[in-house]
Amino acid sequence: MTEPISLRELDAISVDRLQGVGEQRRASLEQVEVQSVFDLLTHYPRRYIDRSHEAKLVDVDPGQQVMIVGDIEKVTSRRTRNRKSIVEASLSDETGSLKLVFFNQAWRSKQLDQGLTVALFGKVELYRNQLQMTNPLVDLVGDRTGRIVAIYPQSEKAGLTTWDIGRWCTEALRRCQSRRIVDPLPEQYVRELGLLDRMSAFEAIHQPNSTSDVLRARDRLVLDELLRVQLVLRMRKVRRLHQASGVKHKVESALLTKFLDGLPFALTAAQERTMSEISTDLSSEQPMHRLLQGDVGAGKTLVAMHALLIAVAEGHQGALMAPTEVLAEQHYINLVELARSLEVEDQSTLAGVRPLSIKLLTNGVTGSDRQRVVQGMEDGSVDLVIGTHALIQEGISFSSLSVVVVDEQHRFGVEQRSVLREQGRDDGKWPHLLVMTATPIPRTAAMTVYGDLDVSTLNELPPGRSPISTSWVSEDVQAVWGHVHSEVAKGRQAYVVCPLIEESDKLDASSAENTYLELVSGVLSDLRVGLLHGRLNAAEKQETMEAFRDGQLDVLVATTVIEVGVDVPNATTMVILSADRFGIAQLHQLRGRVGRGTHQSTCFLIAADQISEDAKARLSALEESNDGFALAERDLELRGEGTIFEQRQSGRNDLKLASLARDRIWVERARDLAEELVDDQGSLEGHHLYEDEVLWFVERRDDDAENLLRG
Ligand code: ADP
Ligand code: MG
Repeated sequence: MTEPISLRELDAISVDRLQGVGEQRRASLEQVEVQSVFDLLTHYPRRYIDRSHEAKLVDVDPGQQVMIVGDIEKVTSRRTRNRKSIVEASLSDETGSLKLVFFNQAWRSKQLDQGLTVALFGKVELYRNQLQMTNPLVDLVGDRTGRIVAIYPQSEKAGLTTWDIGRWCTEALRRCQSRRIVDPLPEQYVRELGLLDRMSAFEAIHQPNSTSDVLRARDRLVLDELLRVQLVLRMRKVRRLHQASGVKHKVESALLTKFLDGLPFALTAAQERTMSEISTDLSSEQPMHRLLQGDVGAGKTLVAMHALLIAVAEGHQGALMAPTEVLAEQHYINLVELARSLEVEDQSTLAGVRPLSIKLLTNGVTGSDRQRVVQGMEDGSVDLVIGTHALIQEGISFSSLSVVVVDEQHRFGVEQRSVLREQGRDDGKWPHLLVMTATPIPRTAAMTVYGDLDVSTLNELPPGRSPISTSWVSEDVQAVWGHVHSEVAKGRQAYVVCPLIEESDKLDASSAENTYLELVSGVLSDLRVGLLHGRLNAAEKQETMEAFRDGQLDVLVATTVIEVGVDVPNATTMVILSADRFGIAQLHQLRGRVGRGTHQSTCFLIAADQISEDAKARLSALEESNDGFALAERDLELRGEGTIFEQRQSGRNDLKLASLARDRIWVERARDLAEELVDDQGSLEGHHLYEDEVLWFVERRDDDAENLLRG
């Protein structure tokens, strides 16, 4: 008996082994990232046409929304006097005919050929006594029979039709028939979870007999995708516990006591809990690997500082890495403030102590300044360093780095995190790692992207904050400026955030300058207004921020540089211009700049009435909720995985079918399963089929499989 065929094997068979895939088709398939038979079988249908819902033209009444399947007859195209394109075609089924009109879709004349069988979705109208559909949805069906027809993502450009792809899938599955595709999931679980076996799932997703077939197949294949990811995360986590060792810190110290005693307020219960979770981690040799998440204003900075000071108190160093220069600078300002008057032991000084030394290292720090910082990191005279990617460049090393905080804000990848961790490894010790996210992430996403981390959550805001009232304003912008004036009259301050210009610091800055000029020469001419954007140099930024903090400015016009870290409790109004250009998470972060004191705060989202449905949904979500966790879930529903993965392309490609919003329950099941399957050495002992599959999976997405497992 031959063994079932593994995914590794399927991935080693090139698609050109299939009938009709020559050099040209092979190249086309490569364009849609299909190279192997495995790629082909996981190039899943985009949707299905259920031909039992098909209407016959003779039965159709004008005004009805229907699906019609028929053959294309003659196609013509022309242009109107004002150069708009019109493509017309007629379609017939056995019972009648229908006229099709496409406006501004000139490419339809190439897509639609005489004799082609297509499925149309749309509203049928009566025009000059003839049934007609205008701009219907069109799916090319080809000559495929069967009640349910799978429609594949097609690429006009690559010249691939859905029936080509369907035919190749059928052939590939037929050729797997005798050996069948391996199913590494122990039968017990297949049964308990009511799943199809893997081979049947592939067959049913590509050639279903009913809609319920598709759903069952999908469940199985979704679980497979998620489980592979969870197995890697679990193996990585357990192995790390066994293999790596870090500095064992003493948690109590005079430095820490002085720091905590010097705070002008009491810690929230959530901060206490989180700090103690972190302290426990830091007092163990096993390197911490923890995610700290909390809503805007929950007080993460303090928790991070606490962790960093535990390192410093024992003569080690701490580092904080932020995704942008502006954020690094803001963290730097905040931490310097928190560390004011803190001292560390230093026997080389007369008093036996010296002020705690915090330095900034970004690409903006150059020349001899940079030299000094780098030197201090190396010789240990710098205790804490705050920076950007500059921290993980070649030629940077630490004397004794024991705690690393990464403020991710969704912008770093797993790989970068591990580079910084390796910086401290000269003495064979791994630094402890705390990852902070400024934006709460939905639970399923946290499990998938950060699944190998322990999680601490700040689920409580410091007392005395009154909820921010948020409204979307499309017309009465004057009233908004009126509100700003009346707040300023009461001694309060306001922010105005300028329209976001995607991906360009420079355009962003000039948009801010224009907005600023307009406001100071117009509605805000009687107020003291400052301007802040990413193109100002560090000193200018600092000066403006200080003036605003000290109350010498009433209004701060800014770009998203103020998104994180800016903290002025007296500011009570946030005006966000062109709010429809921002995402939910970003709007929530920006809004979080107000509501930091005891005064009632207001956020105005300015956006025209005619914005996309998605943008409307985002703005309404903000109007309705102040809870970052609830908003994160909503965001995931609206935008899908894109929000979460951003830079993590590899992670994104791992999930072709699974959706973190829709498949929550499968994420949890996959995680539970991974915990059962992986043993306490981080191996898949006894599940050699899965072991092989996970290794293949890891090798496939990264050349350095060992590194990924080590993480
Ligand atoms: P975030 O979690 O958004 O990073 P921050 O760390 O910036 O929040 O803290 C927000 C504000 O709350 C800061 O002004 C900080 O000083 C203040 N803060 C933090 N913890 C407390 C607390 N326990 N009580 C009162 N204010 C606090
Ligand atoms: Mg913060």
